[in-house]
Amino acid sequence: MVTARRPLIAGNWKMNLDHLQSIAFVQKLAWNLKDAKHDAATVEAAIFPPFTDLRSVQTLIDADKLELELGAQDLSDNDSGAFTGDISGAFLSKLAVKYVIVGHSERRTIHLESDEVVASKVAAAHRNGLVPVVCVGETADDLEKHGPSAVPVAQLKAALAAVPSSAEIVVAYEPVWAIGSGQAATPDQAQQVCAALRATLVDLLGADAAASTRVLYGGSVKASNIASFMREPDVDGALVGGASLDITEFASIIRYQNHVGV
Ligand code: PEP
Repeated sequence: MVTARRPLIAGNWKMNLDHLQSIAFVQKLAWNLKDAKHDAATVEAAIFPPFTDLRSVQTLIDADKLELELGAQDLSDNDSGAFTGDISGAFLSKLAVKYVIVGHSERRTIHLESDEVVASKVAAAHRNGLVPVVCVGETADDLEKHGPSAVPVAQLKAALAAVPSSAEIVVAYEPVWAIGSGQAATPDQAQQVCAALRATLVDLLGADAAASTRVLYGGSVKASNIASFMREPDVDGALVGGASLDITEFASIIRYQNHVGV
């Protein structure tokens, strides 16, 4: 059965905000959304704080029944054992974490995560009841050499190699050249690649799963451009980095449906 895709706005804080700052931030974000009468049934909002903030944020979300989902920025591909510094998906699951980012370009570049490692982390997320937000995207060099879709499509195929077709996943198309650069893709570029990724999901998972899987765009998303991405038929939300650290800006991105002209 094909399910309607609820848009998802996901805020990746990267290595910003300690646990005390995160509590203040989440309280203010929730007040802002409540004041604006944001309805989480229409647009889901999720935040991805650093590991050390997760327990504090989870306690706050639970206690105040906030309509925010919790995500982690990475996980180990192992569930336990001698892996100093790594974080198990089982531990994240215990903290009521729903989503986990896998294969972010910063992990692929700085931590040299290969497609195989990404696939193994996607499998670990699934095994532990977490929904992986699988990041794919081409560098400026890839774009010039191979065009916009080839690298993201190949990365997606590799990432899903070890999970069953029934696994819930979210895909995030993040052109590396657009991340943190202030130079977002055009809505048309984003649509083109997101459509190619959805076609790949049809091949890998079947038509129904592809139709219900959310494909996000990420890369210099702001309040001023989110509505134009969300008008595209294959863009189901955004993975937001820098702009997710500004409460008013992030709340406005979440409330894109209220923007003039949408
Ligand atoms: C990201 O890092 O996933 C991202 C999209 O960053 P920014 O929004 O700052 O470009």
